[in-house]
Amino acid sequence: AKGGGRGAFRFFEPELDHLMHVRRNLEKDMRKALARGEFELHFQPIVRVEGGRTSGYEALLRWHHPERGMVLPGEFIPLAEETGLILPIGEWVLRAACAEAAKWPSDLTIAINLSPAQFRSKELVSIIVGALATSGIEPHRLELEVTETVIMHDSEAVFAALGQLRELGVRIALDDFGTGYSSLSFLQKFPFDKVKIDRSFVSELASKREEARRIARAVVAFAVSLGKMTTAEGVETAEQLAILREEGCVEAQGYYFSRPMQASSIAQQAQRKAEA
Ligand code: C2E
Ligand code: CA
Ligand code: CA
Ligand code: CA
Repeated sequence: AKGGGRGAFRFFEPELDHLMHVRRNLEKDMRKALARGEFELHFQPIVRVEGGRTSGYEALLRWHHPERGMVLPGEFIPLAEETGLILPIGEWVLRAACAEAAKWPSDLTIAINLSPAQFRSKELVSIIVGALATSGIEPHRLELEVTETVIMHDSEAVFAALGQLRELGVRIALDDFGTGYSSLSFLQKFPFDKVKIDRSFVSELASKREEARRIARAVVAFAVSLGKMTTAEGVETAEQLAILREEGCVEAQGYYFSRPMQASSIAQQAQRKAEA
């Protein structure tokens, strides 16, 4: 609309109305999705930079909406977080992912993304203990991916939960490394086992823009210097992988190796390996 006077406001009202309508419908559908079995997990391999062996998989949530088809998490996780639906959905993810990992060779890890809201819930630790017990997988095979926002919310309670989980043997990975605002002292206090270098840096590693390339390399070097496990996300080219190897990054994940895939493909791969 032109100008920006009252007319402009009226112009957008029907659109806003429409958006609210879409949102309400999405929420309504999401409430039914669990019971209707519309959620599915896809799994993306995490690969050793040296040797190329698969060390485990990250579980990534997919929603098969009856009318819209496959919906990616970017489209529904934010709404799930706002409405609290992330709690039952997140519990389903934990249980389903552990149950799937129980079918794999026992040296493979399973990485699961957790939302801040899940950490604010008093039940998180007991849900995880339950998922481990029901599936029978060893705690050290489970890796929980959390972003810095998780810890910034309510550090006392979150630190306590993280401590309990690590005592069980569960590993904690700091996701999207480089995109947050963590101070160095924060990184020293935060009890984590692994750093996942954000895709935005990995994609610039072989960039033609020198400044971006230098920053990207520095982020990788910094992550490695923390002395934890390091995984680079979103690796798409051999060139990126070569630089990661040079910098001493331990693991890599991305379309260069594999897109996230259905559980059945992993079972087939394991079968082929066992037969080879
Ligand atoms: P994330 O944890 O950073 O996950 C990595 C995302 O990058 C995934 O998108 C993955 O499919 C995508 N990806 C992997 N390799 C490449 C690559 O080489 N190139 C490009 N361009 N992309 C790549 P996805 O599956 O759409 O998930 C998006 C985000 O949604 C995740 O980001 C995570 O924050 C969230 N998410 C996914 N599943 C869950 C879940 O079960 N629970 C929660 N709370 N969040 C989830
Ligand atoms: Ca992740
Ligand atoms: Ca990530
Ligand atoms: Ca991300």
